[in-house]
Amino acid sequence: MKLVLASRNAKKINELKGILRECFPDVEILSLDDVGVTGEIEETGSTFEENALLKARAASMGRYIGVGDDSGLTVDALGGEPGIWSARYAERHHYAGGHDDEANNRLLLERLGSVPQEERGAAFVCCIACVLPDGRSFTVRGEVRGSILQSYRGSGGFGYDPLFWYEPLGRSFAELTPAEKNAVSHRGVALRKFAARLREEL
Ligand code: IMP
Repeated sequence: MKLVLASRNAKKINELKGILRECFPDVEILSLDDVGVTGEIEETGSTFEENALLKARAASMGRYIGVGDDSGLTVDALGGEPGIWSARYAERHHYAGGHDDEANNRLLLERLGSVPQEERGAAFVCCIACVLPDGRSFTVRGEVRGSILQSYRGSGGFGYDPLFWYEPLGRSFAELTPAEKNAVSHRGVALRKFAARLREEL
């Protein structure tokens, strides 16, 4: 059995490989590069699920177990924004302050302005999709709730982590160790659900 991960992000691939190897020692885990797929997979869906499925289908090619993921931050007071646009939030809004993670965070703080802490509820969402060689597919979703801080805290993690306050641990996601984050994060939850579901399907 060969499983192809539809990602080129080395951090994500390693994280996924770690969990999958443990659960499925007999499954060979490959990346898109390993199976000769070049070029980007267009994220044209309008939900996390649709985008994850597009990636999983492109990785499966009717031959492999294709696995794709899509994740992002949804902020209640912004009607769910940045959502599926999380990675390109500043770019989408033609933000003058740049288009990287740092700019995304600054734009988020600007958009929320002086909204009080109790109304700054948010969730990180991760959807993982799987397409089997016979065309069957499934998706799983992990979510973690928190709130958006008014200024940065911590230097770990990536993306919106320094602005994501996680009340049960009394720290921001950027103040957690990788193991602490993985135990509660949207991606950790989705990965564990995914491993359980794949075990049923195989
Ligand atoms: P994608 O899943 O590669 O499309 O990335 C989604 C974007 O959502 C990332 O670029 C980050 O901006 C944000 N994001 C997803 N997961 C996390 C997380 O665990 N911490 C911080 N930001 C995240």
